[in-house]
Amino acid sequence: MPRVLLVEDEPAIADTLVYALETERFEVTHALTGTRALQAFEEKSHDFVILDIGLPDITGLDVCRKLRETSNVPVLFLTARDGEIDRILGLELGGDDYVTKPFSPREIVARVRAILRRTSGAPAETPSAPSPPALSSPFHHDSSAMRIHCHGLPLDLTAHEYKLLLVLLGQPGRVFTRDQLLDRAWEDPGAVTDRTVDAHVKSIRAKLRAVREGAEDFIETRRGLGYLLTL
Ligand code: CA
Repeated sequence: MPRVLLVEDEPAIADTLVYALETERFEVTHALTGTRALQAFEEKSHDFVILDIGLPDITGLDVCRKLRETSNVPVLFLTARDGEIDRILGLELGGDDYVTKPFSPREIVARVRAILRRTSGAPAETPSAPSPPALSSPFHHDSSAMRIHCHGLPLDLTAHEYKLLLVLLGQPGRVFTRDQLLDRAWEDPGAVTDRTVDAHVKSIRAKLRAVREGAEDFIETRRGLGYLLTL
């Protein structure tokens, strides 16, 4: 039975998640604060961590940073604000995914399963050095300036192009559907259509090509599925 550490200070949200996870045969430890979460993680090994960012004592980002000192356990962030997404991705904390509130417990369980599937094969909790930054990546994210550089040159991106590219950069090789990209890069995804994503991807590609002529196409299209970034 996979053991999940749920770190969430809002009892109503925590209760529905504990119920949903236990129904799906996960064993759940629930912590209300970051400090308590770190204790719980030390006391008992866990296969997965669901981590709210807004906690009363230390932020979920700090909790993750601490966990990463000793463990590669998969982490799914829960965020309340879009602004936090940039920080999760920008800080390269090694979070495996994130979900924006409000969410359905069903969605969380599905994500946990998907991430566990993806990460299984690698031991869930083996202390090891944090993975080195991908030296071969031509991309660099300056999170304080909210700018992405490619081959050392800053990209002149609109706000949505920036967010979209950040999402893709956050998980190179993962195919994102247009809906997932809309969800993650737009504050009000209902107001735009799939075509909007296509138009933005087209524009990002053009800007990448402008930085270095003949540059390889980093954003691949998977027909009928979506987009992925390849490095
Ligand atoms: Ca909270």
